[in-house]
Amino acid sequence: MNLIDQIDHWALAAPNAIAHISGDRRLTYSELRRRSDALAAHLADRFGDDSAPIAVLGHREPEMLIAFLGAVKSRRPYVPLDTVLPLQRIDKILAISRPALLLTPEYVAELSGAPTPAPATRAQRDDPFYILFTSGSTGEPKGVIITLDCLEHFVAWMLEEQKFTPLSETFLNTAPFSFDLSVMDLYCSLVTGGTLFSVSRDLVANPKMLYRALGNSGATTWVSTPSFAQMCLVEEKFAQAMVPRIRRFLFCGETLTAQTAARLLERFPQAQVWNMYGPTEATVATTSVRIDYSILETYSALPVGRAMPGTDVFVVNDAGETLATNERGEIVIAGPNVSPGYLGRPDLTAAVFFEHCGRRAYRTGDQGRFRDNLLFFEGRMDSQVKLSGYRIELGDVEANLVALPSVRDAVVTPVIKNGAAQSLAAFVVLSGRSAASHFELMQALRRQLGERLPVYMLPRKFVFLDAFPLTANGKADRARLAQSL
Ligand code: AMP
Repeated sequence: MNLIDQIDHWALAAPNAIAHISGDRRLTYSELRRRSDALAAHLADRFGDDSAPIAVLGHREPEMLIAFLGAVKSRRPYVPLDTVLPLQRIDKILAISRPALLLTPEYVAELSGAPTPAPATRAQRDDPFYILFTSGSTGEPKGVIITLDCLEHFVAWMLEEQKFTPLSETFLNTAPFSFDLSVMDLYCSLVTGGTLFSVSRDLVANPKMLYRALGNSGATTWVSTPSFAQMCLVEEKFAQAMVPRIRRFLFCGETLTAQTAARLLERFPQAQVWNMYGPTEATVATTSVRIDYSILETYSALPVGRAMPGTDVFVVNDAGETLATNERGEIVIAGPNVSPGYLGRPDLTAAVFFEHCGRRAYRTGDQGRFRDNLLFFEGRMDSQVKLSGYRIELGDVEANLVALPSVRDAVVTPVIKNGAAQSLAAFVVLSGRSAASHFELMQALRRQLGERLPVYMLPRKFVFLDAFPLTANGKADRARLAQSL
């Protein structure tokens, strides 16, 4: 049984079980199957052999799940897009992925109405399953291709390690479907007949409603970035009594601090805390470790764990040679969960993907080392940063700033507090003199940039300069600019 059959089988085994809860909307497994089959039949009829992707634009509606499965059942990958993205960013992604169709929840509702059997063709293991866009250093988002095979390896490992109880888990979905963290909760839930409980942006914006929703969620499995949990921990009542069924917290995407892990263990004595690590390019997560009191006592900076079975994780030096335990270098991942590459970008693909002992391998750009057979993440080798778990290439923000007519040059740096990036600062050289105040200029730039980039990529602070200080070889001196903050 492949992953799609595993999901579909719940429509027969437990047709009325709830697959998805989003606001006041509910989707059963029987509906999910019937409507995704009908959509797949429609796509097969309409597009025949054309295997161009299907873009899906929405915000956690049940129709998004129907659209994802409908696309893959018709052997087309889907490109998940969230309406939190500005239109210009969505347009760029559509221009790169050239989808056969852009599906919205309303459109899916129309197309998946009539019961129709799914097309007879079946998804193959090497078929691209989804294409997920992430920040690219030149200002163009890049599309990571993930195959059915990649996803199956990831999900099989999760099931083996976490031993989810079929038909009784509720997974918290905090990340939009356009971020790969959501793949963890979405597919672990669907494959085990669980319920996916989506936390919408309205809830995140209103703490009172958020805590009420968490309390009513019945969640057993928490999946989020550490930042999201830190935000929840601000409320003292955020504890086992509020979310009584919680058995595990699964974190991925950014550094989990010992303090956050310790507070969770204290407040949720019946739950486990796991730290997981991995880039989108290797299907959500590749290493994991349960953070218990003995780990907390031994390490001040927490490990990110051991590799999933069947995948090698190792650390290399500049020459690509594997380093010994305790030596710091670049983290490389080789195994079946590694993506075949970036959509339509053989140049970018060749720069970071390669073959290692007959397997696909990916140079992560992350620095780290092994100690006690555990991997430790120690920062980036380039100018990629993480803000509240969101992956941002500083070059992406700079390129989009420089594309504004009023900006001649821009340098963007993270503002670091307590060792972690808290926000972004932009140093800007304007194209010409302006009578406006710095405050007015900043507001105008933020507004214009907000038409091109999602909110989480917008610099909070703007510094206007006549020229940048230069390094000895004539480049903008980023270190000096960052120090000046
Ligand atoms: P993304 O592709 O958005 O999932 O981002 C992947 C990057 O997030 C990795 O290459 C790391 O830089 C960072 N990352 C992922 N998991 C962790 C973790 N557990 N601890 C620290 N950094 C992490």
